[in-house]
Amino acid sequence: MAKVRRLMPQQPGMFRAHVVRTERVSPSMQRVTVAGAELAEFPWLGYDHWFRLFLQLPHQRRLRLPEYTGSQWWQPYLAIPEHERPHCANYSVADFRRRAAEMDIDFVVHRGPTGEIEGRAAIWACHAGPGDALAVLDQGILFDRPHDASEVTIVADETGLPAAAGILRSLPGGITGRLIQEVPTADDRRVLDGPAGVTVSWVVRQDSTSVPGAAALRELRRLASTDATGYAFVVGESTLATEGRRHLHRLGLPKDRITFSGFWKHEAAQAA
Ligand SMILES: Cc1cc2nc3c(=O)[nH]c(=O)nc-3n(C[C@H](O)[C@H](O)[C@H](O)COP(=O)(O)OP(=O)(O)OC[C@H]3O[C@@H](n4cnc5c(N)ncnc54)[C@H](O)[C@@H]3O)c2cc1C
Repeated sequence: MAKVRRLMPQQPGMFRAHVVRTERVSPSMQRVTVAGAELAEFPWLGYDHWFRLFLQLPHQRRLRLPEYTGSQWWQPYLAIPEHERPHCANYSVADFRRRAAEMDIDFVVHRGPTGEIEGRAAIWACHAGPGDALAVLDQGILFDRPHDASEVTIVADETGLPAAAGILRSLPGGITGRLIQEVPTADDRRVLDGPAGVTVSWVVRQDSTSVPGAAALRELRRLASTDATGYAFVVGESTLATEGRRHLHRLGLPKDRITFSGFWKHEAAQAA
């Protein structure tokens, strides 16, 4: 393999890249593989490593990024006039190959009532082509298993599948526990690598109009006990995250042993 050129990012934590190829890996998941000389320096930690993704707007010929020093990027981002401000959304590293300076990003393809693809990042991913510019701002990992926790419970809707897959792949061999993973269709299920002691329960949504995450939450609520010295990671639609945490805490898991994050908000939750 040819040696990949390495380049230090011009701004702290921000890595410029371009699209190399795209692939529909399952009915609801569009994979975009990106690469770039700066990406060779991305400090990938495995697990659920996530980042802010910056995309140029459809009318733009070049990607404009916030200019900042240190870690304060938000105000400089907002200071960019709206018609030039890049779209920003949160994504997880689906896979990373340092030698090739390549990263896979898996975008959930979500659709509106008449079947049209919704969401600016999802639309971008479905139309992306080789050479399209983007940048990723490193945010590290949320997964924070205490060293004494040998049982893990991971619960996610489809937006948390890249994170859950990465966590399973990164966990040490002796860990036990479970992943409850909701997906929109049976064909979105796939083989996941992970410790033999962690069971994977796929929850396939039966009704395409139901709120994502509700079926995973129902499955989690069937759990009647948990190891109080374990650890849980609950991510996806905001109700799954908050109610999932509530259930696990009721079962006796201390709050500081539960990481929960609303990866997005369904309209019904937004209205409430
Ligand atoms: C730490 C973190 C990691 C994440 N990792 C991933 C990842 O690896 N892959 C991934 O696909 N998502 C991931 N997400 C979720 C993603 O950031 C959101 O889904 C985001 O809204 C997508 O941006 P967008 O520009 O496409 O949608 P927007 O333009 O922001 O939203 C448009 C509309 O779509 C709705 N919407 C957004 N997401 C969904 C969805 N999944 N299903 C149905 N409706 C939706 C919104 O409620 C809104 O009404 C992650 C979020 C966080 C916080």
